Amino acid sequence: MTPRLDAGDGPPARLFAQAFRHAVAAYDALPGAILARGADHLADGEKDAGRFPRIADGPLHDPGALTAGPQAMAIHDALVLDPAVVVPAWAGPVDRRQVAGLQPAGPGWRLLDPAGDTLAVVDVVVLCAGPASAALADLPLRPVRGQATVAAGAGLPRAVSFGGYAIPTRDGVLFGATHQRDRTDTDPRPEDDAANLALIAGRLPGLAADLAARPLSSRAAIRAATPDHLPLAGPVADRPGLFVLSGFGGRGFCVAPLLADHLAATILAYPSPLPADLADAVAPDRFRKRALRRTSQTSAR
Ligand SMILES: Cc1cc2nc3c(=O)[nH]c(=O)nc-3n(C[C@H](O)[C@H](O)[C@H](O)COP(=O)(O)OP(=O)(O)OC[C@H]3O[C@@H](n4cnc5c(N)ncnc54)[C@H](O)[C@@H]3O)c2cc1C
Repeated sequence: MTPRLDAGDGPPARLFAQAFRHAVAAYDALPGAILARGADHLADGEKDAGRFPRIADGPLHDPGALTAGPQAMAIHDALVLDPAVVVPAWAGPVDRRQVAGLQPAGPGWRLLDPAGDTLAVVDVVVLCAGPASAALADLPLRPVRGQATVAAGAGLPRAVSFGGYAIPTRDGVLFGATHQRDRTDTDPRPEDDAANLALIAGRLPGLAADLAARPLSSRAAIRAATPDHLPLAGPVADRPGLFVLSGFGGRGFCVAPLLADHLAATILAYPSPLPADLADAVAPDRFRKRALRRTSQTSAR
């Protein structure tokens, strides 16, 4: 769980810095969630060598939270998490059913199963079905398949990231991950393990040789990406009582806790922890609004 490291103080930089602080506090409060703490984000040439000190010394992250070095940025509160602890603790009891459709029902919504039968009639719906959310409301989400690989029995003193990543887990070292746009199959593929090994070998050849000599296992899943790489969190336009929380790409464990609080506050009409411009930056209808603005600017010319 790492923040996106954006220089400057634009909405993405502020969103990820606030979300990261919020997430660290939330995981710290959950017994058994954290497997390891601290990660080194390797510099990618001259660009990062100049960028890292500006981010570390800038106003968005707590003093001392990041240390910029010539080769890497140390992210002291980056966390290796155990999703098998986090997800059930926060989800609570789950009734697992496939929702195939939504129909307005009075002031609320009717949830339909694939046969068209009613699953429930509810006041409020939050779509948080990953890329499948797109089929339930017209949302700009794109699937991105990813596969991560585990080398059983391998060890690593500290997590490392650089576009790819390698982290110590209970079972060995987990590394990856692949990015394949518009693919939705989730069967593990040996060629993706080979791609993950090649990714590590490109930056850490010694580690890659050690991992390659171990028994490998892997898991693939589908990320939900948006056109501007920021999440969707808020009301669905023109559908009262319908909300969405998705589009996390590869950073759900960092941004979801803060945006879940933002969404809960929005639904209950409480003050949100997000400043208004960041709420706008994640609002699901931002793409439609931008397109409308562009159209009205063009016709005003
Ligand atoms: C290989 C890989 C590596 C990753 N690494 C990281 C990482 O290092 N750090 C990080 O922060 N994130 C990482 N991610 C991203 C992270 O997994 C996602 O951001 C996160 O899972 C998004 O959570 P979500 O709850 O929005 O969606 P999901 O986790 O996709 O959950 C969606 C849920 O909705 C259910 N669902 C789908 N359709 C329906 C339906 N019609 N009816 C009812 N239920 C439905 C699904 O069964 C599922 O339970 C990685 C992802 C991949 C694939």
